[in-house]
Amino acid sequence: MNAFIDKMRRRAGRYLDVRPVDIRPARGVLSLSFDDIPASAWTEAGPILAQHGVKATYYVCGGLAGCRNLDLPQFEVEHLQALHAAGHEVGCHTYEHVSTLTLSPTELDASLARNAAWVAERLDGYEMQTFAYPFGDCARTAKPVIDRRFLCGRGVRDGVNTGTADRNLLQAIGLESRRLPGYDLEALIADTAASKGWLIAYGHDVSDDPTPYGCRPEDIDRLIRLAKAADLDIQPVAAAWQVATT
Ligand SMILES: [Zn+2]
Repeated sequence: MNAFIDKMRRRAGRYLDVRPVDIRPARGVLSLSFDDIPASAWTEAGPILAQHGVKATYYVCGGLAGCRNLDLPQFEVEHLQALHAAGHEVGCHTYEHVSTLTLSPTELDASLARNAAWVAERLDGYEMQTFAYPFGDCARTAKPVIDRRFLCGRGVRDGVNTGTADRNLLQAIGLESRRLPGYDLEALIADTAASKGWLIAYGHDVSDDPTPYGCRPEDIDRLIRLAKAADLDIQPVAAAWQVATT
């Protein structure tokens, strides 16, 4: 694949076909999310979330169930059912974990339909309401497809969603060991509270020895403590959408 063309296509996805939405919750909002769902995102992070009484969003690809990725076990269907039963949101991340830059709108729609059917079959007819782009890749032509099926789509570009945001490409910070040292989390939380914005964080595996894309349990604990101290409203993405945009 041509890296330069992909870069231009990501840029087109970011700047074109923006569907603006006003973000104005009564107070700042934090959403925690986990992409792909390595097993540890539930087995390690789940107890921390429960301890704080916080619900998160888990972005699932049906095609990754029971697989290994980055040499780590991904979720089993039982994990997905348990986190759903515990009140966490399940969101869509395509069926195959594929970049939208590689799919026609018809192919993307088929992947979303396949994932929706896979999830509904295992979660008692549950319908996913929000989407996260695999690899953060948002093709311009993907946006109308995401817009038709979901409340909103989340990318991986750093930043707090404040003022006017693109509903099909919300910004998010990575709870990733490769990125965390570069963030001033206190400042991000303070900005979110002061601007009454919506901060979304995403992670992958959770362990004391995480991959570059994962974080440690204490990183999640710290973020939640900071958010609570700043009186942020901590909600899964679909619930946050409701309080932030209406
Ligand atoms: Zn992913």
